Amino acid sequence: MRKLIIVLLLAILQPMLANAGDGTDVVSEKRRRVVVLDPGHGGVRPGKPAGKVLEKTLNLDVALEVRRQLAEKMPELEVHLTRYSDSMYDANRDVDNRLRAEYANRLHADLTVGIHANAHENTSVCGGEVWILSLNDKVLNYNKQKANRFADEGDYIDIENIDRSSMGFMLALARQLDNEPRNRNFARALCNNFKAIGLRDRGIFDSVVWTLLYYLEGPGALLEMGYMSNPAELKYISSEKGKREIAGAISDAIVYFIRSLDTAEEYAASDVQGDVPTATEGASVAERRDATCVDASGEGYTIQLISSKTEVDVRDSQFKAYRGRVMLVMGSGSWRYKYCYGSYSSQQEAKADLAEVRKSFKDAYVVRYKAGKLAK
Ligand SMILES: [Zn+2]
Repeated sequence: MRKLIIVLLLAILQPMLANAGDGTDVVSEKRRRVVVLDPGHGGVRPGKPAGKVLEKTLNLDVALEVRRQLAEKMPELEVHLTRYSDSMYDANRDVDNRLRAEYANRLHADLTVGIHANAHENTSVCGGEVWILSLNDKVLNYNKQKANRFADEGDYIDIENIDRSSMGFMLALARQLDNEPRNRNFARALCNNFKAIGLRDRGIFDSVVWTLLYYLEGPGALLEMGYMSNPAELKYISSEKGKREIAGAISDAIVYFIRSLDTAEEYAASDVQGDVPTATEGASVAERRDATCVDASGEGYTIQLISSKTEVDVRDSQFKAYRGRVMLVMGSGSWRYKYCYGSYSSQQEAKADLAEVRKSFKDAYVVRYKAGKLAK
């Protein structure tokens, strides 16, 4: 009991002590680090639909696996989930997300990680991405329509209705300025780890829109583990192997981040490229390739392998050596589904690969694409 009281006292006094300046290092070392995982959605809000698979279930499965792995990798770390079952805090989504942030704030979380899966109307879009809070003007003026995203809109705060002179906004801005380098440090580590397990690295997105991040007092980020709208990626992220590897990428990034908090120099490092442990020990290149995907949402040149009247699974055997690595580019007419390989910034680069591709697809040729469509 006495021990419990001391632990509780330390937990309460810690935030004050930490701000007391030099001489508190001993106490800092003894304080248990706290991580909060927030499996997105739950209860009446399933998140993004993908047939029988529900985003809320994927999010929870991965969060529980991250917790299990952290118990092994860093037993001294205190890990809490905002939900341990198919539940939510409030039927109102804004309130629900704010309460999740407040739960993490009460625990003085050293890091809070929102766990989500993504979707896009173009089924070739794929990859993992990490969102961090940003309150700079460019981001504030960003038009959310342009983001071309759906179904997670319910987790956004209403940018147009934020009173930028309000105390709440000023506080959020102050917190954001304070936490931004740490948030970015964690996000970078996580992106690197996503890449290492074969997910396409879509990078770090600065955003004001996530309600969870807006109300967090400590460092935090929100991840999208992949696209449920991409058939190959859905198969991967909903498989046991996929969940284990994704959780490995997340738990390794958390371990890296927590260690960096205790070593000031590392924490200040602005570039963690190459320094981050990866989650793929033991996974063969062939296995990683299973999760590799390509994305036609940008623009450039690609090599068209086949066209089809109907949509085809990118892992279909007809793609031979390119199974799972083709992307869908939309054309016109009845053969409008164009399955392509590679993404090149110039026609010359694409042509350099064409001979190799023609060994499997003799009629393949180079085309230009833009935003998921064939371009002239
Ligand atoms: Zn979500």
